[in-house]
Amino acid sequence: MAFKLPKLPYDYKALQPHIDGRTMKIHHTKHHQGYTNKLNAAIAGTKFEKMKIEDILKKVSKAPAGARNNGGGFYNHNLFWSVMSPDGGGAPSKTSAIGKAINKSFGSFDKFKEQFAAAAATRFGSGWAWLCVNRSGNLFITSTPNQDNPLMDVAEKKGTPILGLDVWEHAYYLKYQNKRGDYVQAFFDVVNWSAVGRKFSAAKK
Ligand code: MN
Repeated sequence: MAFKLPKLPYDYKALQPHIDGRTMKIHHTKHHQGYTNKLNAAIAGTKFEKMKIEDILKKVSKAPAGARNNGGGFYNHNLFWSVMSPDGGGAPSKTSAIGKAINKSFGSFDKFKEQFAAAAATRFGSGWAWLCVNRSGNLFITSTPNQDNPLMDVAEKKGTPILGLDVWEHAYYLKYQNKRGDYVQAFFDVVNWSAVGRKFSAAKK
């Protein structure tokens, strides 16, 4: 059973002006499709073919060559599309579980944003910034290089990602060129906090 490129839950132009339609279309139909195809090719005919993507990533150091970059690319973009929405932005409700957890872990929503933006800004070259849940159910912020993520057995800091931001240049260069910081701020205007809250609850189970 091969992995399939998921449909976006909104139009390519739906996140404008924060993220432009041309970037979204290329990102989804070329980059994400490419990772999906190469993941399928990498695991074809192996035991990994029958596994859930999360389980592949948890054993990725033992998986065939190509599974790390492309399995990461497949999973990371699935998560990325699902935590954005044209109706997103703002802050999670202070009475929601995710709103309370952010305040408890980082002091305030603004301090969370600062730390997350710093993780995105200081990731040298290509990679991702993450908000994750650790084994005790607490939140932490981290970043990973390339298409790695905190589910992988090779990750420095392990946990379940509930919010991810792609800081590869392919995610922002057409609109923001070298201004990664502006792109990161624009991302906060489209974050779907309801979706992040659902992932938070699921990760704590
Ligand atoms: Mn990408």
